[in-house]
Amino acid sequence: MKMRTKRGLVSLIVFLSVIVGLVIHTGTGTPSALGWRDIAAICPVGALEVLAGAKAFLVHPIVLLVVILIVGFCVGKAFCSWVCPVPHVRSFFRPKSAKKAREEGDAKDAGTRNGTRIDSRHVVLLGTVASSFAFGFPVFCLLCPVGLSFAVTIGIWNLFRFNEASWGLIVFPLVLIAEVVLFRKWCTTFCPISALLSLVASKSRVLRPVVERHTCLHAKGKRCTTCVNICPERVDPHAMSIPECSRCGECVEACPSGAISIPLLAKKAELQAASNIENTEATQEASASEA
Ligand code: SF4
Ligand code: SF4
Repeated sequence: MKMRTKRGLVSLIVFLSVIVGLVIHTGTGTPSALGWRDIAAICPVGALEVLAGAKAFLVHPIVLLVVILIVGFCVGKAFCSWVCPVPHVRSFFRPKSAKKAREEGDAKDAGTRNGTRIDSRHVVLLGTVASSFAFGFPVFCLLCPVGLSFAVTIGIWNLFRFNEASWGLIVFPLVLIAEVVLFRKWCTTFCPISALLSLVASKSRVLRPVVERHTCLHAKGKRCTTCVNICPERVDPHAMSIPECSRCGECVEACPSGAISIPLLAKKAELQAASNIENTEATQEASASEA
């Protein structure tokens, strides 16, 4: 089974679990979270917003925040590939555009995103917390495509089950489609969840891709950028620190020489070997340009 299909199935199971929880009233706390009693367990930004909006230390959001950040510290941004519904909504509405971007080497043109970096997503994250603090409620949730995906599904459920129609049934899908279809780079330039997870993922080792230097074409002096071009996060798996990696597995499937694998726990020696490939290439390129 292809990684894309596996990711779709896992996201669907999580999505349906949330919907079932809401329908049978298991008390999950928010419209876009699994949970136990009122500890909602998906969105760390939602927890931050609740804390900022309440202007108080609330135990449940703090528990969620700590748990999710520990998970992010271990598996980086796996949430983005394996839980978040947005990539699947996007591929539903724009199946060709994502494929075309990868084929055209979108990642290569825009540069890679290795190492910890502060960018526009972190500004949005700051704005998200500040607006919740100022207005006393989670303002960004009104725009968040993750929350909107759940809101649309719940709206449809209410329509069929209780014959309850609302303006949300028109407004939410329009906002969601506008965000994921028109704003193709939402995840890499806007998403505050991605921003927050990337801050704790710089040393994440669990399930990260590792490149085998003996089989990598790049290491053998041949030109190959397949892994970088296919990566939806514009990450180069050769690099030592890849906090933006969402563990999607696309590079593993695409590598023409089968040089990339995802061990349960990447060891430092393996990472160093992978990183050496990049350093060797950089040195070769520098000497060639000097000559
Ligand atoms: S796709 Fe495979 S062979 Fe090509 S550079 Fe990446 S790891 Fe090396
Ligand atoms: S393509 Fe590879 S490097 Fe890029 S996000 Fe997926 S697993 Fe990580």
